[in-house]
Amino acid sequence: MNRTTAAALLLALALDAPAQQAGPSPAARPKVILIIGDGMDQNQITIARNYLVGLNGWLTLDTMPVRSSVQTQTVVEENPTVPEYVPDSANTATSMASGIVTSTGRIGTTAGTDHDVPTIMELAAAAGFGTGIVATSSVTDATPASFVAHVSGRLCEGPRSMVSTNANNTAFSADCSADLKANGGKGSIAEQIAASRIDIVLGGGQRYFAQAAEGETTKTVRDLAVDNGFRVIGTAAELAALKRGGKVLGLFAPGTMPVLWRGTGGAQAQRVLHDENGRVVQPEPFACEPDPAFGAMPTLEAMARAALTHLDDGRSFMLMIESSSVDKQSHARRPCGSIGELKQLDDAVKIALEYAEAHPETLVLVTADHSQAAQLVPERSWLGPNAASPGHFARIRTPEGAIMGVNYATNDSTLQEDHTGADVPLFAHGAAANEVPAQVRQTDIFKIMLRHLRLTPPPPP
Ligand SMILES: [Zn+2]
Repeated sequence: MNRTTAAALLLALALDAPAQQAGPSPAARPKVILIIGDGMDQNQITIARNYLVGLNGWLTLDTMPVRSSVQTQTVVEENPTVPEYVPDSANTATSMASGIVTSTGRIGTTAGTDHDVPTIMELAAAAGFGTGIVATSSVTDATPASFVAHVSGRLCEGPRSMVSTNANNTAFSADCSADLKANGGKGSIAEQIAASRIDIVLGGGQRYFAQAAEGETTKTVRDLAVDNGFRVIGTAAELAALKRGGKVLGLFAPGTMPVLWRGTGGAQAQRVLHDENGRVVQPEPFACEPDPAFGAMPTLEAMARAALTHLDDGRSFMLMIESSSVDKQSHARRPCGSIGELKQLDDAVKIALEYAEAHPETLVLVTADHSQAAQLVPERSWLGPNAASPGHFARIRTPEGAIMGVNYATNDSTLQEDHTGADVPLFAHGAAANEVPAQVRQTDIFKIMLRHLRLTPPPPP
């Protein structure tokens, strides 16, 4: 290329504001919207569909043209050649964000060796693309964190929790001393988000950004975010009034955002009792109702819409949207909570599909990170009046006038359920969707997104 041509090209690129992206014309610049339902396995989808649209209805999710199944992969931290069959959100989100298999609790780092691995958000930002992260959990929670941060343990969400004191949390306790800035690390997850190039970050997590930043006497993590160019907002009204341009950090709750729905009066699954004759005393059925705690929270749909508006500036972009509490409510044995969060996801899917219709260069992927505890079971056991679920059981009165049985029986703890290890669904829409194989691994989702965005794969860690 001669100098005149090069100068003309540079000028053309400079005039193409605000894009800093070379390559195809704006209309052809590839975009990816990855929507994750945390814990949204086939049981969760079917339970939610039955409640939300009835046995003869389809969710928006169900109308997506391409359908695949995803195997999750996890390895043991102490010996990464040995598999573990039940994952968590940290290692599965790391597989999707960075294309590697790692151990539970790890965020953007390798099992055993603790090397940082680049995320698709970092690769996209380095190429001049727009980037966005939306979640209904704290933005520092495992799934969103895995797209932007690198720490050895998912609980290292803020500067105050870098060295675990919780010896009981055996699955996830990790010492993040090596990640302290004082030791040459990048700091806590919140500090890494504050230092990041992500264009828009929306969700909960105010408490982590209110903490004093490591090594600072007067500054909080929020202050570091502001220093790095983030405009910080905190209400649905501010989100609705958002002007495009600049970087945005929206924090709408101290931690996880409240959920949309709950069981009537707070009802949830409970242990089944037997009377003196050994007969099952069936728990009273309940319906779902709006959870008053949700209050004036922005919906996931509103956050998804704001993120898409913010990123729609002619550049390619990589946007991750998570409905985080399908999982959290299933841990807590609250079926209506999970159903409401699946509704939130389905409403966000609708927004994403509308965007993709208007921008055909958009690949929309919807998936789960791992399966969960809830099972759709008979509302009365087929084995007669003396048999019942050994775990926690709910009978849900659906709007179409039937009773749906949901049980939780992964453990006998009074605290919460465990995850399960089954394959999870993947739904795809867009031109590149036809290239999605019928059965994939979670690391393939990284490759599919990378290929669509025409980004160069990073070298293996
Ligand atoms: Zn979970």
